[in-house]
Amino acid sequence: MIRERAYPVEPWHVRETRLDMDVLAQSESVFALSNGHVGLRGNLDEGEPHGLPGTYLNSFYELRPLPYAEAGFGFPESGQTVVNVTNGKLIRLLVDDEPLDVRYGELLAHERVLDLRAGTLYRELHWRSPAGREVRVRSTRLVSFTQRAVAAINYEVTAVDVPLRLILQSELVANEALPPQSRDPRVAAVLESPLQAEEELTTRDGGLLIHRTKLSGLRVAAAMEHEVYAPARKTIESEGYEDWVRTTIGCVLQPGETLRVVKYLGYGWSSRRSLPAMRDQVEAALTGARLDGWDGLRREQREYLDEFWDAADVVVEGDPEIQQAVRFGMFHVLQAGSRAERRPIAAKGLTGPGYDGHAFWDTEMFVLPVLTYTHPAAVRDALHWRHGTLAAAHERARTLNLEGAAFPWRTIEGPESSGYWPAGTAAFHIAAGVADALRRYVQVTQDTELEREIGLELLVETARLWRSLGHHDRHGQFHIDGVTGPDEYTAVKNDNIYTNLMAQRNLISAADAVMRYRDEAFRLGVTDEEAAAWRDAAASMHVPYDEEIDVHEQVEGFTRLQEWDFAHTPPEKYPLLLHYPYFDLYRKQVVKQADLVLAMHWRGDAFTPEQKLRNFLYYERRTVRDSSLSACTQSVLAAEVGHPELAHLYLREAALMDLHDLNENTRDGVHMASLAGAWIALVAGFGGLRDHDGNLSFAPRLSSRLERLEFSLQWRGMRLRVDVRPHETTYALRHGDPGDVLELRHHGESVEVTRREPVTMPIPPAEVSGPAPEQAAGRAPLLRLPENEP
Ligand code: BGC
Repeated sequence: MIRERAYPVEPWHVRETRLDMDVLAQSESVFALSNGHVGLRGNLDEGEPHGLPGTYLNSFYELRPLPYAEAGFGFPESGQTVVNVTNGKLIRLLVDDEPLDVRYGELLAHERVLDLRAGTLYRELHWRSPAGREVRVRSTRLVSFTQRAVAAINYEVTAVDVPLRLILQSELVANEALPPQSRDPRVAAVLESPLQAEEELTTRDGGLLIHRTKLSGLRVAAAMEHEVYAPARKTIESEGYEDWVRTTIGCVLQPGETLRVVKYLGYGWSSRRSLPAMRDQVEAALTGARLDGWDGLRREQREYLDEFWDAADVVVEGDPEIQQAVRFGMFHVLQAGSRAERRPIAAKGLTGPGYDGHAFWDTEMFVLPVLTYTHPAAVRDALHWRHGTLAAAHERARTLNLEGAAFPWRTIEGPESSGYWPAGTAAFHIAAGVADALRRYVQVTQDTELEREIGLELLVETARLWRSLGHHDRHGQFHIDGVTGPDEYTAVKNDNIYTNLMAQRNLISAADAVMRYRDEAFRLGVTDEEAAAWRDAAASMHVPYDEEIDVHEQVEGFTRLQEWDFAHTPPEKYPLLLHYPYFDLYRKQVVKQADLVLAMHWRGDAFTPEQKLRNFLYYERRTVRDSSLSACTQSVLAAEVGHPELAHLYLREAALMDLHDLNENTRDGVHMASLAGAWIALVAGFGGLRDHDGNLSFAPRLSSRLERLEFSLQWRGMRLRVDVRPHETTYALRHGDPGDVLELRHHGESVEVTRREPVTMPIPPAEVSGPAPEQAAGRAPLLRLPENEP
C-alpha cells in the first residue's frame, strides 16, 4: 500500500514529485499509457531501474500449458498469456561517457505528470553524474488516440553548466528479461524469450523488428524513426540485430543548449498478414505520425480528450481526492477501450501483465456500463469482440453438454483459459453479464443495427445456455444448480441469486428480441416454443429467501451455513484465499465480494426497499472485500439504503484502489473494474441512476462530505447533465434536436427535460434507515475520510 500520499491532489493531473524505488512498479502501472490497442507501462525512458518493463498489444498472446495435478474431463489444456512485446520506449543517454541512471550520481529533481486532459506522460529530471556533469531532461510520451498504431516521445536534454558530449541511444528491444512471475517452470519456459526473430531492418534514422510467437504463431512488428533537432553538428546512425535495433545520436552541447529528439513508434500485429505486409503496415504508421508531427499528434490527442471529457467528466466538490481519482479512473477506462476495436478490454487494460492479460466479466458488468453512458462507441466494439468469440463459446458449451454459448471465465481470444473449475467455468453468470451489457447499450443508444446484427444472436445463445443449464423442479420452479456466483468464496452451489436474477432478465430480453426480429430469429432456429420456454423459465425462476430471518439467500441454504469466525481471523490472513483452503471458505458464511448486494444493484427491481435494507445489513457483516470488485457496489447499495456516509467510504476505497495501491498489487496493472467503479459509486450511488426498465431514473442524495456532484450521460443522441447539490438537483439537456424531450424519474416523480430550460427538483429528506451497518470484525472500509482538508 502507498501509505504516504504518493501523488498530490490535483483535479486534472497525477503528479509524482520524487522517485521512490519502492513503488516504482506501482507507478509504472499508474503512469501507463494506452489507447486500447498499444499499451506502454510508465517505465523510465532509459529502461532501468524498472519494476516491470511492459509493452503490450491488445490480444497479442502466447499459449501456455495449464498443468493439473489431477485433470478431469473438460479441463482446458492450454491458456493464453499476454506477451511483453518489443519495447520501443527505450532512450538511453550517455553524458560524457556516463550512462544516465538515477541510481548513480545525484537526482537533483524529478517529476512525472500524467496529464488527463493532454493524454501525455511528462517527465522532468535534473541529474548530476558521478563525475559532476549536470543535465536536465524533459520527455513527453503519448500513445495516440487518433492514430491507433502510433506512440511518440519528445525527448529534450539540456546541458546545465559546462559543455557536454551527449550520446543518445534510442532502441527497439525484443525479449527483454522480465522479473520472475510464476514458479511453474513450464510457464516460465514458454514466457522466456517468447518472440522469435523474423526480420530486422535499419535506415539511418530508425529501423524495425518483426517477430513471431512460437506457439500462437502471431506476428508482431515494431518500427521507430527519429527527428533530431540539435543546435550544432550531430551524428546519427542506426544498427540492428535479431532482437534489437539502435539509433545512436551524438552531439556536443554548450551550457544552456538543448538537443531535441522526437521518436515515433509504429506497432502492429497479425495472425494472418505476411511479413512484407506487416513491414509496410508499421512503416505506414510511422509515415502517418510524421505527417502530423509531434505538435499535430499532441493537438489531436488533446482534441480527442476534450471531446471525451465534454461527455464524460464528473465534477466532485467536497472531496478533492475523489475528484482526482474519478478522472484518473475514467482516463484509464477510456485508455483500455477507446481503440480496442473488436478486441477485449482486459481486467488490467494494457497496463500490466496481471491476470495474464485476461478479460473477465469485469468488462461487461463494471467497465461497459460506464462507457455506455460516456463513450458508447467503445461498447459497440467490445460487444463485437464478445460476439466474435461465439464459436469458442459454442464449442465450450458442447464440451460441457450444454446448449447455446458458454463464455469463458477468463480469456484473451475466446477459449476458456481458467484452470480452476469452481471459480472459472462454474461462474456461468458471465453470460448474463454479456446479455445485460448488450441490453443496456441498445437501450441507451438505440443502435438497433447492432442489435439486429449481433445482439439478437448473443441474447439467443445466452438464453439457450440458461435454459439448458437450469431445470424445472416437480413444482415447476426453475433452478440453476451447481454454479458459482460473483462471490468466489461460495462455489458450485444451487440457485445463486445473482445468477438467477440476471439469467431471468437475460431470458426475457432474448424472448423480447425474438419478437422484434422474427426473421433473424427464425434463421437462428428459434421457434415460438423455444421463446415461450425462456419466458416460462424466467417466470418461475427460483429466488432463495430465508423466511425465518427475512433475508434473501445468496445461494440456496446460505443462511444456515456455519458462520466464519471473523473475531479470530487476524488482519494478516487476508486475502483469505491465500491463507485458508477453499474447502473451508466454501462451506461457511463468508463472502469475498458483493454478490447478492450486486444483484440488488443491477436487479434492484426484484427487491423491495425493506428487503434491500435488511439484506444489506446481513451481508455487510459477512463480506470481506478480498476482491477489488466489491467496494463500489457496496457504496451504491449503502447509498440506496440510506447510509451515505458509509457509501462515501466505499467510494473512496474503489476510487483510490490504485492511487493508494490499497490491495498491494497495482504493480501488475491497474484495477479497471474498481476504477470504473468510482464512476458507478458516484453516479449510481450518490446520483441514484438506475435503468431497469428502459427508463432513466435518479434518486440523488449526497453524503455530508460532498457539496456537489455533476455528471453527464449520453442518452439516445442527447446529453443529459445532472447537477446534484445537497438539497436540489438540476437536469439539463445538451445536444440532440431542439424538440427533444427526455423523460426521467427523480425520486419516483416523473420529470420532462427539454433543450429549452433545465429542470430543478428538490431532494426529499432522507428517511430514517434503521441500525448502522456493521462490517465483519476488522473489515471496515480501508480508508477513512482525510482530516484537515476542505
Ligand atoms: C474476482 C473476480 C474478477 C477477477 C478479475 C477476482 O479476484 O473475484 O470477480 O473477475 O478477480 O478482476
